[in-house]
Amino acid sequence: MSTTEFTTVITGAAGFLGSHLTDLLLSKGHRVIGIDNLITGNLDNLKHLEKETRFSFIEQDVTTDLSIEGKVDFIFHFASPASPIDYLELPIQTLKVGALGTHKALGLARAKNARILLASTSEVYGDPLVHPQPESYWGNVNPIGPRGVYDEAKRFAEAMTMAYHRYHGVETRIVRIFNTYGPRMRPHDGRVVPAFVTQALKNESITVFGDGSQTRSFCYVADLVAGIYALSQSQEVNPVNIGNPREMSVLEFAETIRTRCDSSSIIEFKPLPVDDPKIRQPNITRAREILNWEPKVALEEGLTPTIAYFRELMTRGVI
Ligand code: UDP
Repeated sequence: MSTTEFTTVITGAAGFLGSHLTDLLLSKGHRVIGIDNLITGNLDNLKHLEKETRFSFIEQDVTTDLSIEGKVDFIFHFASPASPIDYLELPIQTLKVGALGTHKALGLARAKNARILLASTSEVYGDPLVHPQPESYWGNVNPIGPRGVYDEAKRFAEAMTMAYHRYHGVETRIVRIFNTYGPRMRPHDGRVVPAFVTQALKNESITVFGDGSQTRSFCYVADLVAGIYALSQSQEVNPVNIGNPREMSVLEFAETIRTRCDSSSIIEFKPLPVDDPKIRQPNITRAREILNWEPKVALEEGLTPTIAYFRELMTRGVI
């Protein structure tokens, strides 16, 4: 079968990562069916595909029965609220999509004999006690904290995915996604990249939580989806971290953004959210060895289109 005949379902297709993945798979010759209930996704992210005959869109909550006509070769399960503010505002939906939505997506994979890739997260490592985090680390998660709704739903999703693999023989893949940035992030989702860039562009105070010593490692979206595609084509059933190992403190990140936006913003320190992980850096040895993948885009480079995207939203009065 040539790749031009592949049909791929992407849940969460109207989201930041889902829409970039849609573009990548279309460029690889797949026919793509996107599903999204638009609670955090945005159809603007798919607007450029209006005339693309190989793309179709279904507005649906993936926790309800999924029925797709015809064959399906791949499923990428990316639907979920994905920022700490989203989990606070949508705790039940976050739990439901990670648990019930994953169950439906796996059921579809089984029915269609399709390969399924689950979007999991570095949040399965919680506030990690091992650094950098390898896939073998089991994590340090508070199940009843405000982030628990996301962390535990994704941990359940991984367990359910492995159960479908072991019990039903479904071809499964699991990617653990670390902090990612790029155009199409939601301006008001509260995550550090949209927050700092919009604040800097408007010369408003940059809100650093805590003392800003907590660290994150930021991966450009094009690198991330390339790694996810490589994983989908590989034979690796165990989870694989995809992210950029260059780690920096949140305060250093705030200063970088301020400089890059030529901003006169001051830095304002605000309380650290509950259970905010103190450190995070992916160990990407497995991705390097198995997928021959590593990130190529430096932060300095990836920030250019990212800042341009938010600048454009500002010009249009969206933010
Ligand atoms: N953060 C911050 N100011 C903000 C938003 C986030 O200092 O306005 C911090 C947050 O406390 C965390 C880091 O930036 O330590 C990354 O937060 P984000 O919400 O992007 O995602 P997380 O990595 O925590 O899931």
